[in-house]
Amino acid sequence: MSSTDPKALLPDSLAARVSTLTIKEGRAIAIVDAAGLGQQERDDIERAITDILGQREEVSETRVVMTAERTQRRIIAVGSGKGGVGKSTLTANLAIALARRGRKVGLVDADIYGPSQPVILGNQGSKPVARDKKLEPVDSPVGIPVLSMGHLVEPGRALAWRGPMAGNALAQLIDAHWGDVDTLLVDLPPGTGDVQLTMLQRYKPMGAVLVSTPQDLALIDAARAGQLFDQAGVPVIGLVENMAGYACPHCGEVSDPFGRGGVETAAGRLDLPFLGRIPLDLAIREGSDRGQPPACGEDALAAPFHDIAAKVDAWIRAQG
Ligand code: ADP
Repeated sequence: MSSTDPKALLPDSLAARVSTLTIKEGRAIAIVDAAGLGQQERDDIERAITDILGQREEVSETRVVMTAERTQRRIIAVGSGKGGVGKSTLTANLAIALARRGRKVGLVDADIYGPSQPVILGNQGSKPVARDKKLEPVDSPVGIPVLSMGHLVEPGRALAWRGPMAGNALAQLIDAHWGDVDTLLVDLPPGTGDVQLTMLQRYKPMGAVLVSTPQDLALIDAARAGQLFDQAGVPVIGLVENMAGYACPHCGEVSDPFGRGGVETAAGRLDLPFLGRIPLDLAIREGSDRGQPPACGEDALAAPFHDIAAKVDAWIRAQG
């Protein structure tokens, strides 16, 4: 990206409609606040932006994201810059901990790269049924209703999904019979791809929680994901550091395989709240693999999840 704002490529009347325009590695993403605009106006704006940017040599693909008005149900997105940092683990435990605080929580597992919620929540093999062309969420032994990409397709198949297919699958999971669920956590795929863009476009979340390990690379990617939410007017509730501080099960010595404190420092630098730190602990993985997430308990393993949930709960309440 050049140092000048790429919005300068657009005529003033159009640029005024665009909250941000980024061009990176040939991919242009224009974020337009579409609240109050009719369908015709939206189509006209999208076409005009796509036409103008399509003529630029440095642009091979343009996505125009029309951010919608927020839906009635509170949607909290959980994202990360890259995979394997514990985003799904945090989402499941946050869901359980928020439910303990009296919220009616549902969970959408939109991670096409590795839909792991059916395993973590212990309802693998259950299939959702459709009623009136909408899916019924599947109950889980831990009391959280869930719909997962993993319920819709064979493991690994959703990987090939691009654009509209990923977006339609997300819509099936979110526009489901959620009943009295008032808080829907969405476990997003890592990064800033099609599912994220559809999410912002069609179901603008109330806020987003970002997870990272303390490693520099994971952090940079997480910051990028945060930037996308921010540009689309979705506040980042805060950053969570996962896999910090490994307690050796034999000698008890605590070491820091991925460093420690990096996420908190990054949160300070990015001016984002820091929500808490979850240690790297074998019992967390074992519980997740058994369908018994640590937040079901009351012990030291559960504590960081309950602390983070308390902060998220307070944040939601503060929004009114
Ligand atoms: P992501 O959703 O970011 O891809 P997952 O939540 O699926 O990541 O976690 C990846 C793997 O790491 C899983 O096997 C999970 O059980 C394990 N894991 C996640 N957080 C921790 C932790 N704090 N301690 C130990 N293992 C963890």
